[in-house]
Amino acid sequence: MGCSHLLVEEDGQSAVFLDAGFVGEMFLVRRWLRRLKLEPSAVRAILLTHGHLDHVGNLVELHEWTGAPVWAHALEHPHVEGRYPYKGVNRVCGWAEAAGRVVLRRRVGAVDRTFADGDMLPFWGGLRVVHLPGHTRGHCGFYSERHDLLFSGDLFASYFFNTHLPPAILNSVPAEFPASFRRVTALNPRWIVPNHYDLLDGARLRRRFDRLYRRKNFALPLAG
Ligand SMILES: [Zn+2]
Ligand SMILES: [Zn+2]
Repeated sequence: MGCSHLLVEEDGQSAVFLDAGFVGEMFLVRRWLRRLKLEPSAVRAILLTHGHLDHVGNLVELHEWTGAPVWAHALEHPHVEGRYPYKGVNRVCGWAEAAGRVVLRRRVGAVDRTFADGDMLPFWGGLRVVHLPGHTRGHCGFYSERHDLLFSGDLFASYFFNTHLPPAILNSVPAEFPASFRRVTALNPRWIVPNHYDLLDGARLRRRFDRLYRRKNFALPLAG
């Protein structure tokens, strides 16, 4: 679990998904919506941080059940659609996903709409797309100005005493992590919520992000 978030609009009448969860979680998704007294058609969009299988495992089912369009960054379409040309150690990730799709009988999804860095999406009082490559090329976070909250996808993961970058085999363009971390630091959100974490505590997760940033020496050396 922890692979998707459901954001309910203030009027309680509609909602959007951030990512589409892992396989076998559809029953949880249905339960969430029932508890919120929302019909499947109340889901207005499925926004993807990136296209790894643990984030799009339910995509086809969720899309068909809700009718909601799937949104992703242009560079992420190949991941979602299962045709990303993994290279180097990253190929292990591609093999695992291909095998996973066969074993779990997953159908490959498709993207309906494309967003780009800086786009303001008309959900949850406005969600700004923040392109944060490193984990994948088209990996994006979503920033809510109203809540001063950044959903940071798989930029990092955080469990108890272990806050870390995603495992090396999962990262397509790791050289881009430092710049993405600097972007988040400059954005300076009060709360950060990644996709993989132990406790939903945005302030604590923000502090853990800061510690990881310092430990990794991602800040640029001061000039002069
Ligand atoms: Zn991932
Ligand atoms: Zn993930």
